[in-house]
Amino acid sequence: MAELKQIIASMPSLRLTVEAHGLMAKKTLGQNFLLDSNITDKIIRTSLDNQHRKSFAGMHIYEIGPGPGGLTRSILKATPDKLTVIEMDERCIGIMEELRAKTGNIMEIINGDALKFDFGHTENIPRQIISNLPYNVSVPLLTGWLKNIDRFAALTLMFQKEVADRITAPLCTKDYGRLSVLAQLQCKITRLFDLNPECFVPAPKIWSTILLFEPAATPLTTPQINKLEKLTMQAFAQRRKMIRQSLKSVPALEAKCAAAGIPLTARPEEISPQQFLSLSASL
Ligand code: SAM
Repeated sequence: MAELKQIIASMPSLRLTVEAHGLMAKKTLGQNFLLDSNITDKIIRTSLDNQHRKSFAGMHIYEIGPGPGGLTRSILKATPDKLTVIEMDERCIGIMEELRAKTGNIMEIINGDALKFDFGHTENIPRQIISNLPYNVSVPLLTGWLKNIDRFAALTLMFQKEVADRITAPLCTKDYGRLSVLAQLQCKITRLFDLNPECFVPAPKIWSTILLFEPAATPLTTPQINKLEKLTMQAFAQRRKMIRQSLKSVPALEAKCAAAGIPLTARPEEISPQQFLSLSASL
């Protein structure tokens, strides 16, 4: 373990690496880089602390969008058994290859689109995803992982703060919506900390937030998720309307809502994730 830490400590700084590879950030790829190892180390340390773990030993970590590799270095220092990085930008692959050459054969490098990556069903060691997510695809990526949350032991993900607010939104708030319902049913979500724009190169306009997702004891099945999604889409499509109106196409709505403990006069943001689940089960 100490050896890997020493190897990484002896590497050129990230700023030098970025310069050597001429890696100018591309907006189209949602590139805002973290070049300060104090910050990337803090992300990993805080995630591990919250999981009551000292390292990633015995785990397979997947990092989405490693970019110049700051977070990648911090992940490697926490000694996973295996690290797979999935990066769309070919310019970053050379940097990853240099890192792999230094850190041995635990790294697998995939040059591709994480939206198309199939994690498959099982593996003999637990898997975690860690990412400073490209903001333009963060919600579709998260939704895909939430639908298959039983494949993962945890997700440590950085979002634009307003997206993190939607994911963690409590009932009866303007941010509460379909994403909050699915995420809160599938996971226990912990807000780790916020980062101000100056932590990134280039600095975005908004703050960022890191969330830790730990799967619920009994995640939903695919048929349950399909029903839930259909229902929440219908209800939140008219979020100012009472469900008596927005869900009027549901047969025997009154009896089904009564069984789920939902008044017909409720608006969607007043219906808890568990109530949405109960109602969707009766559809
Ligand atoms: N992890 C690096 C860091 O923290 O400095 C970079 C984070 S940057 C916000 C997002 C990274 O995701 C970029 O390196 C970008 O090229 C990559 N990326 C963007 N879209 C992607 C996709 N669909 N699949 C895989 N990687 C993607």
